[in-house]
Amino acid sequence: MSASEPRRRVPSVDALLRGEPGKRAARSLGRPVVKLALQHTLEDVRAAAAKGVEPPDDDEILARALALASDAATGLTPVINATGVVLHTGLGRAPLPEDAALAAARAAVGYSDLEVERVTGRRGRRTARAELLLRSLTGTGSALVVNNGAGGVLLCLAALAKGKQVLVSRGELIEIGGEFRIPDIMAASGAKLVEVGTTNRTRAKDFRAALTERTAMILKVHPSNYRVVGFTAEPAVADLAAIARGAGVPLLYDLGSGLLERRPGVPAEEPSVAEALGQGADLVVFSGDKLLGGPQAGIVLGRDDLVERLRRHPMARALRMDAMRVAALETVLGAYARGGGADLPVWRMLREPAEEVRRRAARLAEALDGELEGARVAACASTVGGGSLPGFEIPSWGVEVRVPDPPAMAARLRTGRPSVFCRVAETSVLLDLRTVPEDRIAHLARAVQYALEGDDVEDD
Ligand SMILES: *Cc1c(COP(=O)(O)O)cnc(C)c1O
Repeated sequence: MSASEPRRRVPSVDALLRGEPGKRAARSLGRPVVKLALQHTLEDVRAAAAKGVEPPDDDEILARALALASDAATGLTPVINATGVVLHTGLGRAPLPEDAALAAARAAVGYSDLEVERVTGRRGRRTARAELLLRSLTGTGSALVVNNGAGGVLLCLAALAKGKQVLVSRGELIEIGGEFRIPDIMAASGAKLVEVGTTNRTRAKDFRAALTERTAMILKVHPSNYRVVGFTAEPAVADLAAIARGAGVPLLYDLGSGLLERRPGVPAEEPSVAEALGQGADLVVFSGDKLLGGPQAGIVLGRDDLVERLRRHPMARALRMDAMRVAALETVLGAYARGGGADLPVWRMLREPAEEVRRRAARLAEALDGELEGARVAACASTVGGGSLPGFEIPSWGVEVRVPDPPAMAARLRTGRPSVFCRVAETSVLLDLRTVPEDRIAHLARAVQYALEGDDVEDD
């Protein structure tokens, strides 16, 4: 290897840490973090150098490493969600109401009666209060709260069908956001998947024909994030319930979003918890941070004997929630109990009239005016997100900013301060104001102005 090769000119971690800028970074962020960030950065630089790419100078290498290290050191960065996707999984799904966030903070900074009964002093259950609220809100026999929706499904399968067969329609073998795939969850639980019917059409008689003495459950999955359209058929929940009852096995309905109350404007295809139970599902599972508008949680509701078996399963302990989320969930359920579900942030955003969103868009455009000509108020469509209500669009308004390179503009918005997430079109970026609260408009305007400094604005 000759000395002129790029690889030979890549500095060492120690040399960079010994320099004055490296020392300063180590003092402010912690030496182990800076060291690891340098190792990662140098690996990339070395890999590029191996292909003949000239390594950047030390300052540039250090700057890259520091960007990585300070990201880890500062932690989560609050962002402005200008995507119009209300339940944006990447951006944390449901924003909590302030009182729920405060309840979580209170539970975090001090002690609480998380798992003790104050009257008797005996050991209690951490989710007993939330479960009581859930039972009262849905009129169900029993409730169980676990870490998240996927955990709830996994627990039901493991506790009720391990080593046995579970019937699922081929039209419902879904994947939700990367890792949650029905066949994989099934395999992880130890239950055996039996596919029933076809992708577009499955009938009640297909389920009847698939029953054997090894069948332990029928699983129905709400295909939250897609729709099968055209020549389609799925058996009604009531029919599946009748088949399950006849076979002496439970019907589990994975609702995903868990619409707790039927609301005007929500399409009828979105099943509500009460409807699913009323139609005969023995158990339903849903997420706490989708349409419920609460913290991440997995909620299981249904028959007492089944929920009791779930509760006693060792996996239930492994999937339990922490005190902060218990407190937040209780607060959100309390709001529903008092009839205030519609005022939760998720529902406020979903039902806000387009005209009001338009007013905020106009305010943003006004704040941006003077600075640029390429910004204009534009009609757009928000979505629910979180794999809820696919194809369902909510009329909305935003500000469209025409730029020569929209993806580059979006990247500058994401990495700016405050960080902004927007939609990217062919010749513009779009800021949907449905998911941007009034008090963030001035910040958003500033972020857009900063981001534009690296880009010439195109006139219409
Ligand atoms: C979102 C979803 C899940 C997973 O819930 P998490 O709370 O995200 O774990 C499971 N099933 C369906 C149908 C879903 O929509």
